[in-house]
Amino acid sequence: KLVPSNSHRSISITNLSRCISTLILAEHESGSIKPQTVSTVVAANQLGEKSSSVSLLLAGSGSSLQEAASQAASCHPSVSEVLVADSDRFEYPLAEPWAKLVDFVRQQRDYSHILASSSSFGKNILPRVAALLDVSPVTDVVKILGSNEFIRPIYAGNALCRVRYTGAGPCVLTIRTTSFPVTPITESKKATISQIDLSNFKEDSVSRSRYVGQSTQDTERPDLGSARVVITGGRALKSVENFKMIEKLAEKLGGAVGATRAAVDAGYVPNDLQVGQTGKIVAPELYMAFGVSGAIQHLAGIKDSKVIVAVNKDADAPIFQVADYGLVGDLFEVIPELLEKLPEK
Ligand code: FAD
Repeated sequence: KLVPSNSHRSISITNLSRCISTLILAEHESGSIKPQTVSTVVAANQLGEKSSSVSLLLAGSGSSLQEAASQAASCHPSVSEVLVADSDRFEYPLAEPWAKLVDFVRQQRDYSHILASSSSFGKNILPRVAALLDVSPVTDVVKILGSNEFIRPIYAGNALCRVRYTGAGPCVLTIRTTSFPVTPITESKKATISQIDLSNFKEDSVSRSRYVGQSTQDTERPDLGSARVVITGGRALKSVENFKMIEKLAEKLGGAVGATRAAVDAGYVPNDLQVGQTGKIVAPELYMAFGVSGAIQHLAGIKDSKVIVAVNKDADAPIFQVADYGLVGDLFEVIPELLEKLPEK
């Protein structure tokens, strides 16, 4: 449905709750859609009932984009359309052109909700989208109570806040994807794939950000945000060399490596491994913390883990208050013993 650019301003809240149409800004890499995007689709399905439709917007350039689009078309039965913006301008996820793109697409179709995952990608782009639309974004949503009512954590996860969106424009949300697990999909249904005509797309002539480079973690390991097992090391590891013990253990257990901010700041590992309030939020089946004190900013990132195991030589360390299994001991003794006793993968 084509509508004039400012039509969203006339959509009333009552209309919002009746007719939900969601645009999700999708994340993809090496020709595959990222798991957090599928979790965002799961969240979108909780916004409304039968009349709802979900469109995925993929931007980028080249054959890997088209491969990802093809995969996205069957990633979830509720996705009705995959919109593809194929241009060199979207080769890198810079907030300015991507936010403009979301606005460009929104001007042509009548979306009641615009979503992205609460990853560094979504957190980079969606606030700018909200600014362009002159609406307040609701960030880090952990529960959806209705089309305009959400729960989000505040004070580093120590309190949950119930937010009602009362704006007139589209409701812009970032989703904490660990709160919306994907159940196995049995239904096979393929959405339509449409290439977006970008001939009228205009970027700002002056861009405030410039792509410098990207370094990603070893692709052999599972992604930290969606791993079933996470092995984390803290400041107590003392060096880059010692941190390799954590990596070996993660390898044996088929898990991802995490770190506290203190370990990252000390330079033992890169900062994309940081877990916590200002790092990644994880929700694995098993979370093992070695030499981690359990500061609230760290706990904010691990609260949804199913089983937490902590090893710390201080029996009073706060991590033991949240751990399901705790061992008071020296990690330099415990980890080598674990490595020795665990079978090879
Ligand atoms: P420490 O607090 O120094 O703890 C080390 C622990 O190792 C101690 O409990 C000690 O008993 C134990 N230990 C020492 N030697 C051994 C041994 N041989 N064997 C076993 N145990 C041993 N932190 C995060 O992790 N993630 C975040 O996202 C984050 N965001 C923050 C945001 C803000 C705004 C602020 C102010 C802080 C943030 N922090 C964050 C930092 C946080 O407050 C803590 O400083 C940090 O988590 C501590 O890391 P740590 O547990 O590795 O180190």
